[in-house]
Amino acid sequence: MPLLEDSVGVEDLVLLEPLGQESLLKNLQIRFEKKEIYTYIGNVVISVNPYQQLPIYGPEFIAKYRDYTFYELKPHIYALANVAYQSLKDQERDQCILITGESGAGKTEASKLVMSYVAAVCGKGEQVNSVKEQLLQSNPVLEAFGNAKTIRNNNSSRFGKYMDIEFDFKGCPLGGVITNYLLEKSRVVKQLKRERNFHIFYQLLAGADAQLLKALKLERETSLYAYLNWEASRVDGIDDASNFRAVQSAMTVIGFSDEEIRQVLEVTAVVLKLGNVELSDEFQADRILASGIHDGQGVQEIGELVGLSAEELESALRSRTVETTKEKVVTALTIIQAQYARDALAKNIYSRLFNWIVYRINESIKVGAGEKKKVMGVLDIYGFEILQDNSFEQFVINYCNEKLQQVFIEMTLKEEQEEYKREGIPWTKVEYFDNSIICNLIEHNQRGILAMLDEECLRPGVVSDSTFLAKLNQLFSQHEHYESKVTQNAQHQYDHTMGLSCFRICHYAGKVTYNVTSFIDKNNDLLYRDLSQAMWKAQHPLLQSLFPEGDPKQVSLKRPPTAGAQFKNSVAILMKNLYSKNPNYIRCIKPNEHQQHGQFSSELVANQALYLGLLENVRVRRAGYAYRQGYGPFLERYRMLGRSTWPHWKEGAREGVEKIIGELSVASEELAFGKTKIFIRNPKTLFYLEEQRRL
Ligand code: ATP
Ligand code: MG
Repeated sequence: MPLLEDSVGVEDLVLLEPLGQESLLKNLQIRFEKKEIYTYIGNVVISVNPYQQLPIYGPEFIAKYRDYTFYELKPHIYALANVAYQSLKDQERDQCILITGESGAGKTEASKLVMSYVAAVCGKGEQVNSVKEQLLQSNPVLEAFGNAKTIRNNNSSRFGKYMDIEFDFKGCPLGGVITNYLLEKSRVVKQLKRERNFHIFYQLLAGADAQLLKALKLERETSLYAYLNWEASRVDGIDDASNFRAVQSAMTVIGFSDEEIRQVLEVTAVVLKLGNVELSDEFQADRILASGIHDGQGVQEIGELVGLSAEELESALRSRTVETTKEKVVTALTIIQAQYARDALAKNIYSRLFNWIVYRINESIKVGAGEKKKVMGVLDIYGFEILQDNSFEQFVINYCNEKLQQVFIEMTLKEEQEEYKREGIPWTKVEYFDNSIICNLIEHNQRGILAMLDEECLRPGVVSDSTFLAKLNQLFSQHEHYESKVTQNAQHQYDHTMGLSCFRICHYAGKVTYNVTSFIDKNNDLLYRDLSQAMWKAQHPLLQSLFPEGDPKQVSLKRPPTAGAQFKNSVAILMKNLYSKNPNYIRCIKPNEHQQHGQFSSELVANQALYLGLLENVRVRRAGYAYRQGYGPFLERYRMLGRSTWPHWKEGAREGVEKIIGELSVASEELAFGKTKIFIRNPKTLFYLEEQRRL
């Protein structure tokens, strides 16, 4: 089918002629300009963020997509949600929906569209509705605590999220489980210019009534708080005060008690107030530079809020106790160390609070162990990141994307080939890049970069980011996906864009240069024991429960796993979970950097198409068949089209299908008959069959 400029392009990129990066982009652009934001690659949905409300959602559209099969209506997320839900219900196959794309591409909105579609079609009744409400209301709560305005997205998710929605055998929702990944906790204490802290802080100050503010010992103005970047405290289109009320009511719907909500807000207030604890230099008699706490009142108030003595908190913030077998040595912290400790405490309290909120939601929505369930997983996770400065966070995020690409390769491409093999259909081999070599470079148990980082963190003696880098350089100097200044120099390649403290990985999506500064620190993620012990002493059930290691009776010498090890572990669990399900993909694309509707930047989209491997995806799809169906269901659906198969057909399903196809004179190169399924090369053949059915 030729690509016509005045048309709306092709709905499925498998039909694109000629196929190439340029025609692919042009097709997306033509469709975008016609407000057709969804396009297929077979059963993959590409979604280009329209940055405007389009009249294509809601009950009327849900009802439409519910009654038609995948290719009958325009491409839509609803069509994908419908296929996933129907296969879960009818074919008893657990499903997962993987939503990827960069910040601002529309992943979270897509995941909400999937959830609202499923909620609309999956059963009725009081009990079912209350489960649905709880599942849906988890969104505003997690967004309040885990999303923030960034330069790229006014409502950017600063954590990864995977949610299993569980159904009974009739397809009614029973509940679910949410897993969260790596909250960007550095945001609690510092934000870039024109960015904000997490929404909840602004919501609380704007939305709490005077009485609540007083009880939390807070003032209404954001500019009074050091942790809030007041330059960006207002965001167009975001109503913090009304969102605060929505969050409170969502928490109630989920099942948080008033007391729990109060405690959550108290802990939130503590974080905010910690930022205002000012530390200043003081010369002590013994001439050691130590930190003094200026803002005595702030410390006092924090203590009152959470039942902690001000002296206790103050001493934990300004000194550090080192215990040896023989003695306890207390050292005063320098001002730099004390500021670091205060910020580390704030980040830790907040990220643990976030984890607790997820845990608490899960408590409410969890399904009894004995019940047999069908599961639909929805993954909304950060896409591949190449920033100006890439640090530990980008490293683990890109590692996760590398793994997701591996799932994609293994599940889509290999499955495809294997299915053809199983069915005895000839297959033209498609060459594709297998990224396990990069995954290995990062995650190998003994020799991977993460293992090296852990080894360096645990090694006694003087360790630093540069000893870590030196180790990498030594180990991977010959690795084809690893580069650094040192390895380049050895090979006489001089690249002035790479600093001495950097290494570079050639990811499947492109090269990324990481700066190792603070890798060790971020991986260690340690909090001085004085601080966890102080928190544990708080007469505040929630705050205390967030710091179990502060309990002197619990003191174990075992070190908690490093941030890298924890992340690797949770990614491994996620992969196992995804591999056990049938995948459905939504690939989100951001059309421009300005959050503006109607603007399509080809260069920006081209980059994303590359990261998402769209062209590769189309090539594989075209090498094979776009549609396949078991002979039984196919015969059932289309037997009304055959003279011999209607109304009765007594012979085998395959013979029946062959009969129908023969009678309809479908071109033989369009089809392949496998052992158990019929394969159709071109979706148009399917359209034709569907059309015939409706005549
Ligand atoms: P991040 O990785 O930063 O969390 P994201 O991919 O989750 O980004 P979203 O928050 O889903 O991005 O989308 C960003 C904004 O784009 C939304 O707040 C909304 O304004 C707009 N948007 C996204 N999808 C749609 C859509 N289908 N219709 C209208 N607007 C949309
Ligand atoms: Mg998001």
